[in-house]
Amino acid sequence: MKALLLYPEFPDGFWSFKHALKFVGRKAALPPLGLITIAAMLPGTWELRLIDMNVKKLTDTDLSWADCVLVSAMVVQRKSAKELIARCNKAKVPVIAGGPLFTEERDAFPEVDHLILGEAENIFPRFVADFEAGHAARFYAASDRPNIQVTPMPRWDLLDMKQYASMSVQFSRGCPFNCDFCDITVLFGRRPRVKTAEQMIAELDALWDADWRSSVFFVDDNFIGNKPYLKTTLLPALIAWQHSHKRSIPFYTEVSINLADDEDLVRQMVAAGFDRVFIGIETPEEEGLLGCNKLQNTKRDLTASIKKLQNMGLEVQAGFIVGFDSDTFSTFRRQYAFIQASGIPTAMVGILQALPGTKLYERLWGEGRIKGVVSGDNVDGTTNIVPKLVSSEELSVGYRWLVHYLYAPKHYYQRVRTFLKEYDPAPLRGASLSLKGFLALVRSFIYLGVLGKERFCYWKLIIWLLRRPRLFPAGVTLSIFGYHFRKVAESIR
Ligand code: SF4
Repeated sequence: MKALLLYPEFPDGFWSFKHALKFVGRKAALPPLGLITIAAMLPGTWELRLIDMNVKKLTDTDLSWADCVLVSAMVVQRKSAKELIARCNKAKVPVIAGGPLFTEERDAFPEVDHLILGEAENIFPRFVADFEAGHAARFYAASDRPNIQVTPMPRWDLLDMKQYASMSVQFSRGCPFNCDFCDITVLFGRRPRVKTAEQMIAELDALWDADWRSSVFFVDDNFIGNKPYLKTTLLPALIAWQHSHKRSIPFYTEVSINLADDEDLVRQMVAAGFDRVFIGIETPEEEGLLGCNKLQNTKRDLTASIKKLQNMGLEVQAGFIVGFDSDTFSTFRRQYAFIQASGIPTAMVGILQALPGTKLYERLWGEGRIKGVVSGDNVDGTTNIVPKLVSSEELSVGYRWLVHYLYAPKHYYQRVRTFLKEYDPAPLRGASLSLKGFLALVRSFIYLGVLGKERFCYWKLIIWLLRRPRLFPAGVTLSIFGYHFRKVAESIR
């Protein structure tokens, strides 16, 4: 059986990092981890090819080679997924689809032959057996949460690794919290399931053996969901793994704000090579946090928690949301003031969207406040919610103002400086300026220092960094990220 694995394109948004990738000569930020994990569950007798449409075009010759196509996608990839499925239908190649998009919108894809709904581990072998026997059903829905300690190692060999800025691995699924807008707990549950430290070390060994030396993203939605296992087992194993190699590999991940309450855990993460964490802050307003059940963010000084993490060696990237029921027109200015004061250069601000299956969606549906289909890109300035205290137009105007203001060079570089003054990065063992890093620096001189409208702010920062060489790599990286965010912000009209 010849199977073509297809990963649809992401739109050009904040998360694509498209405008930053040209500095490092890469085409995509991250590889399709779900698809290469599914690939590892297919029989060894199947012939596999993978096309990540973010790095390579799909041709008719690719389709004519295939006996079947496997597609995996998130909601944000819907448009590209629809287009490629139409091409498969035209070429008469059966389509097998799975992932969050198809699980959450199963009835929106009548053109897909077979749908794998939910986590695949326990249902995929039965589908494959039925498919090979020629009598596969249309739906295979997971009825339980699989033990991910049996999940096979992803097939990184199917990737052209040189096209990616980072590699990714997954340690856990699920999150113990219960934010009402979040589909993670709907998809993966609230009891975090973890892989073993041995699995993670084997995956990192495989990446190292494949000559991967750049950063690795732990894609977990909340890496600290199971703290006891992290502290006693995984992090000590990661620390030992880093020390057994000539140089450290930088790690980054997503966590909840309560990480700041556990200094031992932060120290261990930094010692294990983590230098960046993404946190859902959402809003500095207590009422908004209570309204969406983000209780872990309430009753605390959020800025102090962020600064503590920065002081201990973690850059905090954060997600923010406008459009909560308690938000008024003055919320936009308060969000701006908070983000600036906290020194969060990478602040992903989106309008609240209601994803099908979430508690938020159920509530708003009951109130008659759902309009249209969710885009899944929460930073594209659209929403499927009728807002409460502001009009749709005010929400849209306020959002545009906030994003444009945050990423105007003067304000962005101010934030970078605020962050760098707090940041105390751990030295990266064995780090040296790679050719990729050198070229990124030279390109930043040209695109930011000569051609960019941020040139004045950029050179001011570079001069400031010359006296602080430890901060130089972070400062240049953030300048490049800022260029990407500015371009995306400018495209939001
Ligand atoms: S903390 Fe993050 S992953 Fe967990 S429920 Fe809230 S939004 Fe979802």
